[in-house]
Amino acid sequence: MAVIPVELAGRAYDVRVEAGLLANVAAHCSPFLRKPRVPVITDENVAQHWREPVERSLAAAGHEVRWHVLPAGERAKSWAELARTVDWLLNEEVERGDHILALGGGVVGDLSGFAAAILKRGCGFIQLPTTLLAQVDSSVGGKTAINTSAGKNLVGAFHQPSLVLADLDALGTLPPREMRAGYAEVIKYGILGDAEFFDWCEANGPAAISGDKHLLEQAVARSVAAKARIVAQDERETTGARALLNLGHTFGHALEAQTGFSERLLHGEGVALGMALAARYSARRGFISRGDAARVSRAIAAAGLPTELSTLGLNCSGKELADHMLHDKKMDAGTLPFILLRSIGAAFLDRNVTLSDVAAFLDEELQRS
Ligand code: NAD
Ligand code: ZN
Repeated sequence: MAVIPVELAGRAYDVRVEAGLLANVAAHCSPFLRKPRVPVITDENVAQHWREPVERSLAAAGHEVRWHVLPAGERAKSWAELARTVDWLLNEEVERGDHILALGGGVVGDLSGFAAAILKRGCGFIQLPTTLLAQVDSSVGGKTAINTSAGKNLVGAFHQPSLVLADLDALGTLPPREMRAGYAEVIKYGILGDAEFFDWCEANGPAAISGDKHLLEQAVARSVAAKARIVAQDERETTGARALLNLGHTFGHALEAQTGFSERLLHGEGVALGMALAARYSARRGFISRGDAARVSRAIAAAGLPTELSTLGLNCSGKELADHMLHDKKMDAGTLPFILLRSIGAAFLDRNVTLSDVAAFLDEELQRS
C-alpha cells in the first residue's frame, strides 16, 4: 500500500492507494466512525458494483449503513440534489463530529464534500474515489462545488476530507473511456512539473491503464503525491502554485463549451487535447521546441486520447473557440493568464497571452489534419 500524507496544518490527512481497500473499508475508517450508523453517499452506477462490498465490510464491523443514491453524471451537482442530500443528512441526524462517506467519482465527491462543508457548519467526510480522475485529482485537495445556470463549479467551499481511500479494484469496473479520460490528469502531473514522471508515463502509462495493477498503483500514488505537494504549498489557490494544475484546462474548457459539455468530449479528453494545444502554443511562442511539443502529443495519443482538433469535427472559427475563454478567465487589459511550458516538466503562468493571438493559433490548428 502507498500512503501519501497531505500536509496541511491542523487538517492533515492521508491518501491510501491499494487494491482491496473498499472490501476492507470498515477497518480503514474505524477511527473516524464513532456511531453505529454510517451515512454513505454514492451514485446509481457505482452502487451497482460497490454498494454490496462496502455494506458487507461495515455491517461486519457492527455498523448500520444508511445509503443516499444520487443520479449518475454531472447533473447531480445541482442545487436540487444538494438540498435533497442535506435534508437527508439532517433527517439521519448526522452531527458535526460525524463522518459522511463519499463513494464515487468526482461528482459524488464534489457534492458530498460541499454538503459536509455546510451541514451544521461543517461535518467530517471521507473520500472513497472510484474513478481514476477522482483518485488522482478531485478527491485530494478539498475543493468542493456544485454547478449553477451561470456555469460549472461556481458555488462551493474548501473543505478537506479526513481520509482518502483510492481502491485500485474500483477502477476494474470503470468504463475504459472514463479510465483514459482520468489518465489525462495523470500525465498532466508529469508534463507540468516532473520530467522524470513524464518519461515514466511514456514508458508505462498505456500498460497501467490497461489493467496492470502494479503500474496503476505507481501512477495513482505518484499523481496523488504531486497534487498533495502543490495543495500543501497553495491550499486556496492564492500563491499561483495550484494554478499550474490548470495546464490544458483553458483550451479544454473552450472545447467542452463548444461541444456543449456533452458525451462528445469528456472533461479528461478536453484536457488531453488542451495539453497538446498548450504544448504547441508554447512552441509557437518560442518557449519549447516543436520536437518537445510533438513528444507531449505522442505520449497523450499513445493512451488513446485526442490531440488534434480535427478529430472533433468542429464547425467554428478560432475566435469562436477563444471567446469561450473569456467566460472562465479574468481578462486583464486584453490579455489572458495561461499555463504554458518552458520545458517538459516545467509549466509556468504566462499573463501576456492575447486573445487575438490564441484565436490565430486555433485557426491554424483547425486547419491541421
Ligand atoms: P463522474 O463522477 O461523473 O464519474 C464518471 C462516470 O463513471 C459516471 O457515470 C459514474 O457513475 C461512473 N462511475 C464512477 N465510478 C465507477 C466505477 N468504479 N465503476 C463503474 N462506473 C463508475 O466523473 P469524474 O470524471 O469522476 O469526475 C468529474 C467531476 O469532478 C466534475 O464534476 C468535475 O468538476 C469534478 N472535479 C473536481 C475537482 C476538485 O478538485 N474538486 C477536480 C477535478 C474534477
Ligand atoms: Zn481537470
